[in-house]
Amino acid sequence: MTFEALNLDTPFLKAVKEEGYTDPTPIQAQSIPLVLQGKDLLGCAQTGTGKTAAFAIPILQLLNKEKTAGGRRKIRSLIVTPTRELAIQIEESFVAYGRHTNLSCTVIFGGVNQNPQVKTLQRGVDILVATPGRLLDLMNQGFISLKDIEIFVLDEADRMLDMGFIHDVKKLLAALPRKRQSLFFSATMPPEIIKLSDTILNNPSKVAV
Ligand code: AMP
Repeated sequence: MTFEALNLDTPFLKAVKEEGYTDPTPIQAQSIPLVLQGKDLLGCAQTGTGKTAAFAIPILQLLNKEKTAGGRRKIRSLIVTPTRELAIQIEESFVAYGRHTNLSCTVIFGGVNQNPQVKTLQRGVDILVATPGRLLDLMNQGFISLKDIEIFVLDEADRMLDMGFIHDVKKLLAALPRKRQSLFFSATMPPEIIKLSDTILNNPSKVAV
């Protein structure tokens, strides 16, 4: 399997080459075609498997195909992840894989002053990576609207529940458009995770590595 065989557009083939990737990892080979087809995805995968590129690259390609015409950028994809470290890594991956596009991405997390984050959001971004608490906080203050989200990712869902974020996740789900593509990743699939995934996903394709 090659990245070319996954029907990636030139900007992304170039970016993966520059990252030094020769072949897609198994989770990438399975997930990229499904996400590009617009399918919802239930992915059972741990960090270290190449999971980030498995969702970031096809999201970038989908958003890059349909550019927002004029005006300020709207948040079209939201990635929610439990920790600041993961959020930063994911945002860096979007920046790296999207470097040959004009798409913009930013990251927000708690424990730091919100003002620089708000300023960046006010300039307009296409992709937002967030931890749940700061996301809800900025939504409640009116700095973030989720009404234009086309693709939603819930990353490390099992860790999210372990860390007590279930109520935050439910609140933000209520603010997402009904018509959207959703991707759900978890390293383990205990019953409460399956139940949560059922409330988020619509007829999902399943991938496991
Ligand atoms: P992740 O599971 O997304 O945290 O990725 C783990 C590591 O694998 C990161 O350092 C990536 O840069 C790297 N990586 C992701 N995809 C590939 C690939 N296709 N070939 C080689 N390394 C990769």
